[in-house]
Amino acid sequence: MNPSIAIIGAGVSGLYAASLLIEKGYDVTVFEARDRIGGRVLSHDGFDLGPTWYWPETETTITQLVDQLGLQAFSQYTAGDLMLERQFGVIERHTLPPGHTVPSMRLVGGMASLTTALAATLPAGTIQLESTVTSIRQARDGVTVTTETGISTPFHHVILAIPPRLVSRISFQPELSETTKSKLANTPTWMAGQAKVLAVYDRPFWRDNGLSGQGMSWAGVLQEIHDASQPGGLAALFGFFRLSAAERSVLDRDELNRRVIHQLVRLFGEEARQPRDVLYVDWSSDRHTATVQDGEPLTDFPVYEPIALDPAWEGRLSLAGTETDSLFGGHIEGALRAAERVVEQL
Ligand SMILES: Cc1cc2nc3c(=O)[nH]c(=O)nc-3n(C[C@H](O)[C@H](O)[C@H](O)COP(=O)(O)OP(=O)(O)OC[C@H]3O[C@@H](n4cnc5c(N)ncnc54)[C@H](O)[C@@H]3O)c2cc1C
Repeated sequence: MNPSIAIIGAGVSGLYAASLLIEKGYDVTVFEARDRIGGRVLSHDGFDLGPTWYWPETETTITQLVDQLGLQAFSQYTAGDLMLERQFGVIERHTLPPGHTVPSMRLVGGMASLTTALAATLPAGTIQLESTVTSIRQARDGVTVTTETGISTPFHHVILAIPPRLVSRISFQPELSETTKSKLANTPTWMAGQAKVLAVYDRPFWRDNGLSGQGMSWAGVLQEIHDASQPGGLAALFGFFRLSAAERSVLDRDELNRRVIHQLVRLFGEEARQPRDVLYVDWSSDRHTATVQDGEPLTDFPVYEPIALDPAWEGRLSLAGTETDSLFGGHIEGALRAAERVVEQL
């Protein structure tokens, strides 16, 4: 009988770990709380509401995987000037020197093309959606996993591929030590306090004016804006917020949209006033990503590294997920490398 592995979480890390383990002949079951795969990867009609880019100059795992899975990639559009708003309503136009940004790539169909392609490498029935894991217990013949719908048969090993802070929502038998719990709780979930907004247009009108679609603001609701257009498809501008999760939470959607569009008009002109659609996701209120602590803005880039679990769990439980990679923690590259690390250790 093949050794059986349970993976908790069908984000990039869990899906890639599953794919590698299936290739090695393990029996794998992936438990996913949501009714969809991908975790923080979320694309709507090809527009990314979670991660957008990877950086091929340094991120070799994702670059090779994109190739291996036969996915189509294209460069982030950066040709043209950047608009800067240091003071509300005072707009500066800047021509940046060539090579000012590290080249980044996007995927045709959005980043969800990656998670969809990874899931397609798994045998039917491997992923159990709407299965929030609430408890993990060691039994005489392995480790059982409890979801709202029941208790599994024992697995040889369990891989947690969820943000470390969410581990506290699962009960363990034997219990995790206070030291481990505190390490998990003190590891912030990357981008969990952020929100992303996309204004969709028929055409990338800003390019006609020699603008790249890049905007920076120290005064508007959005801090950073980029071109999110699809090759040969609809055009879009996307923004990350300058407002904190708490500041966003007191504004209703209409008011937030109004301020976003007003800012896009200030930076890119009248044509920005009538988007055909506005897409918005606030990750700080997504319970399968963020905890209350994640609403607090990060002051520094967190230190990410593998988190050792207690000796009582050695050989039975491991922790993947992007927040456990010491080189690219936070990025998709980190999520993939973490999956490779736990699979190698098995
Ligand atoms: C707005 C935004 C922009 C970003 N931009 C970029 C970018 O441009 N480039 C980049 O490289 N990275 C970016 N990132 C980061 C990137 O999204 C993450 O590094 C990556 O998606 C993390 O994958 P993961 O598998 O480690 O975790 P997740 O994607 O968080 O997956 C964890 C999964 O576990 C599930 N889960 C949680 N608890 C349970 C439970 N108890 N039982 C069952 N399932 C559970 C969740 O539902 C989720 O599906 C961005 C993130 C955000 C939010």
